[in-house]
Amino acid sequence: MEPGRQGTVRVEGLPDPEPRDGELLVQGLALGVCGTDKEIVRGEYGWAPPGRDRLVLGHESLGRVLEAPQGSGFSAGDLVAGVVRRPDPEPCGACAHAEWDMCRNGRYTERGIKEVDGYGSERWTVPPAYAVRVADHLGLAGVLTEPTSVVAKAWEQVQRVGERAWFAPERVLVTGAGPIGLLAAMIGVQRGLEVHVLDRVTDGPKPGLVEQLGATYHSEPIDKALDAVNPDVVIEGTGVPDLVFDAIAGTSSYGIVCLTGVSSRGRTVQVDGGGLNRELVLENDAIVGSVNANLRHYRAAADALAAADPDWLRGLVTTRIPLDDAPSAFDRPPGDEVKVVIALTDDLP
Ligand SMILES: [Zn+2]
Repeated sequence: MEPGRQGTVRVEGLPDPEPRDGELLVQGLALGVCGTDKEIVRGEYGWAPPGRDRLVLGHESLGRVLEAPQGSGFSAGDLVAGVVRRPDPEPCGACAHAEWDMCRNGRYTERGIKEVDGYGSERWTVPPAYAVRVADHLGLAGVLTEPTSVVAKAWEQVQRVGERAWFAPERVLVTGAGPIGLLAAMIGVQRGLEVHVLDRVTDGPKPGLVEQLGATYHSEPIDKALDAVNPDVVIEGTGVPDLVFDAIAGTSSYGIVCLTGVSSRGRTVQVDGGGLNRELVLENDAIVGSVNANLRHYRAAADALAAADPDWLRGLVTTRIPLDDAPSAFDRPPGDEVKVVIALTDDLP
C-alpha cells in the first residue's frame, strides 16, 4: 500500500526478511483486519517507512516461530503475535518507562501503520522483546491478541481510575458488539462483573456471541439500556458521538466511562455543556480515553485469551480471506461479520 493514495493496495513479492540482532524469524499465519487498516487503504491514514513509498500493511498478527536464537525465550514452533508500537527514539518520559502506548511526542512508530512494515507477509521478523507467546490451543483465535491488548489496557485504565477511591464495580455496559466490544465483554465476565452489551443489530452472530458469554444483549436505544442497567462502568467502543455523550451522562454515581472508539471529525451533536459538567462534578464521574497497548497489556491479553473458551473466540473470526484476495478484505460492506482475517497460509491452525 502507498499510504495517502487510495487504490494502491496489492499483493506483491518482496525478498524474505533476514533476522538480525537476535530477532525471531516467523511464518505469518493470519492477519486481522480492523478499521485502521481500512482507513489506510482508503488513503486517509498511514505513513511509509522513511525513503520509501510503500508500506506492508497489517498490525493484528499471528505467526509461528521458524527460527529463534538461543536465550530468546522462544522456540521454533511457538505461536506468537507481534507488538505494534515501538518507542520513539528520543525517548519521551513515557517511552523511557516502557509506557510507549502513552508516548508524549508522537515520534513513536507502528508496524503496518506508521513508518515500519507491518505483519501482512508470509515471513516476518520481530525482536523477542516485541513478541508475545500465544497459547497453542487457541490456534487461529490467537490472531485476536491485538485487538485484545487494546481492551486489556482499557480495563487496566478503568481499574486504576476506579482505585482513586473504594472501587467495587458490579455492572458494566459495553457499547458496540464488534471485536473490541465483544472482547471487552469477555474480560468483564472474567472479572466477575454483570456484563451488558449494546448494539443496533438484532440478527447475525452478535446477540448469540454475547449470550454465550453469559452476558446480556441489548438493542434498545441507549437511554433505555442505561436506565435498565445503571452501569458502574461503561466501555464505549463505537465512537458514535450521540452514544458517547449519552454514556457519559448515564453512568451511576462515581461512574467511569472508558472511551475506545475513534470518531470521525466533523460529526456535531448538541450537548448541554453546563448540565454535563454539573453531572460529572456532582457524581464524581470520570472519563478516560484509551488507545493502543504496551507489553504489559499484550501479556494480559494473551492470558485473557488463554483463559477464554476457544470455541467462542473462534466464533469471532467470521470471515477468512485467502492471501490472493487480500485487497478485498479492506472494503467489505458492513454486515454480520465480526473479525475478518486474511489467511497468509493454506494451513491455518
Ligand atoms: Zn515517546
